[in-house]
Amino acid sequence: MSTTSEADIAHLFHPYTNLVRHPETGPMVIVRGQGVRVFDEAGKDYIEGLAGLWCTALGWGEERLVEAAAKQMRQLPFYHLFSSKTHEPATRLAERLASMAPIPDARVLFACSGSESNDTAIKLIWYRNNALGKPEKKKIIARERAYHGVTVATASLTGLPVNQRGFDVPIDRILHTGNPHYWRCANPGETEENFASRRAEELEKLILAEGPDTVAAFFAEPVMGAGGVIVPPATYFDKIQAVLKKYDVLLVADEVITGFGRTGQMFGSQTFGLKPDMMTVAKGLSSGYLPISALIVAGHVYDDVKAQSGEIGVFGHGFTYGGHPVSAAVALETLDIYAERDILGHVARIAPVLQQGLRALQQHPLVGEARGIGLIGALELVADKEGRKAFDPKLAVGARVVAKAQEHGVILRAMGDAVAFAPPLIISEDEIGQLLGRFRAALDEAH
Ligand code: PLP
Repeated sequence: MSTTSEADIAHLFHPYTNLVRHPETGPMVIVRGQGVRVFDEAGKDYIEGLAGLWCTALGWGEERLVEAAAKQMRQLPFYHLFSSKTHEPATRLAERLASMAPIPDARVLFACSGSESNDTAIKLIWYRNNALGKPEKKKIIARERAYHGVTVATASLTGLPVNQRGFDVPIDRILHTGNPHYWRCANPGETEENFASRRAEELEKLILAEGPDTVAAFFAEPVMGAGGVIVPPATYFDKIQAVLKKYDVLLVADEVITGFGRTGQMFGSQTFGLKPDMMTVAKGLSSGYLPISALIVAGHVYDDVKAQSGEIGVFGHGFTYGGHPVSAAVALETLDIYAERDILGHVARIAPVLQQGLRALQQHPLVGEARGIGLIGALELVADKEGRKAFDPKLAVGARVVAKAQEHGVILRAMGDAVAFAPPLIISEDEIGQLLGRFRAALDEAH
């Protein structure tokens, strides 16, 4: 029999991987996890500095989630929600999310991934504006460096070249405006507030240039994740929301990373004062143990969609596994654990340790900016600290430092030359110390 690595190289088509180099470098085979650590085939341990893909908030080996899944599997391993069918786990989870989300009269539509929920949001926006007799009001604005997924429509929203180049996206009707990275994009001498005003003015200009009657919605991650962990500057979302309101443009908050405590409050929308009309959540919803996502929509949006479905005869959208009973049962248990263990209180206590640790690393000659909030952050690696000069992308400095960190027993992700940190929310002070200590050793070696 072949080894796992041999079978992988022969048959597995890897996402987000250099497919040419993969057979030479080979896969990293992870066999188990416990707490904030995962272990490879040789038994070497790694601190998972990104909670897998920003999702495993409760870490590995959480028996209660295993039990919740097993119990639900025995009771009802599958049923769907089409044609008015329902089941207890999805219903209770919808009820719970509606009560938690900062959205009035919320309704919850389930899917299996962040991409699917964002894609669904786009379809609902179009469906609703058809219902309202505004068939021209269909354009959607996202931001450069946004990440909203990889379906045809969501890869179009995503503002990262790697997700678009060669794929024939973006589709039309999707526009991009500037991102809120103050350190990188502010003009000399510009304050955070002035920079935020400029970004809001640019958004307004874009809406006016396109025609307000053609612009339907604006998508935003409260903290941009895969674009390099970009925390919005002071007053940014207040000013952006004032523009959206003025031109009757809906706000969709993509809380796929920021949901469930990552930024210190339950939702990033609460941390940054967003009042979204729709919100998407996934990842932390089940602590990554099973795939599940949700689109949470305000009552006024639901009512318009409902009226249209009455005209057409059915709301013709849904995924076979959307609201899967086993995933929903695990999500309910995850939310119970967050509440019982006061995960928000824990994040409030522990976040300063991570944030101060990252700020301390800003002294390092390779680090241009340390940024973050709650248990999410990034270090921007630069060729010249004073001039904020980036490295030549061909050097792949971020990827090289992350590879070094892996040798030192830390798994992280590089977004260009920004190295992202988003450990499981259960991480202890001591473990944050180990995570940053191992990373610092890698950084010193890379220098
Ligand atoms: N939105 C955000 C903010 C994300 O970070 C991601 C994934 O990282 C997605 C959407 C897409 O989610 P998925 O990979 O589950 O489709």
